[in-house]
Amino acid sequence: MGFVSILTGSFSTPADDNPTVAVVEAAYRHHGLDARYLNCEVAPGDLADAVRGARAMGWAGFNCSLPHKVAVVEHLDALAPSAAVIGAVNCVVRDGDRWVGENTDGQGFLASLREVVNPAGRSVVVLGAGGAARAVAVEVALAGARSVTVVNRSAARGRELVDLLSSRTPVQAALVGWDSTFAVPADTDVLVNATSIGLAPDVDACPDLDLDTLHPGLVVADVVASPPRTALLRAAAERGATTLDGLGMLVNQAVLGIRLWTGLDADPAVMRQVLDDLAAGTAQPGPGGR
Ligand code: NDP
Repeated sequence: MGFVSILTGSFSTPADDNPTVAVVEAAYRHHGLDARYLNCEVAPGDLADAVRGARAMGWAGFNCSLPHKVAVVEHLDALAPSAAVIGAVNCVVRDGDRWVGENTDGQGFLASLREVVNPAGRSVVVLGAGGAARAVAVEVALAGARSVTVVNRSAARGRELVDLLSSRTPVQAALVGWDSTFAVPADTDVLVNATSIGLAPDVDACPDLDLDTLHPGLVVADVVASPPRTALLRAAAERGATTLDGLGMLVNQAVLGIRLWTGLDADPAVMRQVLDDLAAGTAQPGPGGR
């Protein structure tokens, strides 16, 4: 028996409302893995020291959340292909002496999407052009989507994402300015809300869409995880569309991170249960007394 655990964790600020520690440690416990996940409050000016410290202590890897997803890149030795295209990293993995940056935001979304539809050859509409939208759009493009239409309020930010998709992936990409109610084109297979509209506390906010253009046969996904049942998903379900919530994306990111750090294929149901309990306010106290 040894007394040194596998060390993993997260660097972000603010860190206190990030539930990933509860999810990942539940999986470690469930599978009897001697590993820990430490949720660390790290200010931007301390990021370089935190990464050096993790290396010195032999961590297997760590997540990077806001505001470090782009800044961490300069402290790494290599980037996985999709992280290189996205230009942001949320999961760092030790490979021998090297730190390799991955982006599991988009991969987590893709894993969730694949449970209901294979994006290859599909027509995808992405609402938003921020960090989450970038990760989602690049991953579905690299997964062989036929087209990605970016719908964004800020034209400059939308254009930047469309140019990235056109220059770095094989997808047919287009931009739609979002200055009036958006009607989802009839040939759309997957609609993704990758904006923060609907995020708590603004739980009744819904993206400005013609909701009557949502229909059975369409997959409507939301990256917003809190609350999981957003106004958009409620409206989509009422119109017969298949819905995917942001908790699936969150769980799949944890599955991917754990696999990259430890080689373990963790049971997503255990982690989903933790998130459902947290959402229902019935979670057992975890590390740190919560
Ligand atoms: P960013 O700030 O980078 O981007 C926000 C995007 O939302 C921008 O495109 C912005 O448009 C758009 N937006 C915000 N408010 C409005 C509005 N009122 N009307 C129209 N567009 C709007 O945020 P992130 O991409 O980092 O995060 C977006 C969401 O994704 C958050 O809710 C976050 O919690 C969630 N997320 C979920 C994950 C999961 O695992 N489930 C993982 C990562 C993120 P504009 O460019 O015009 O400002």
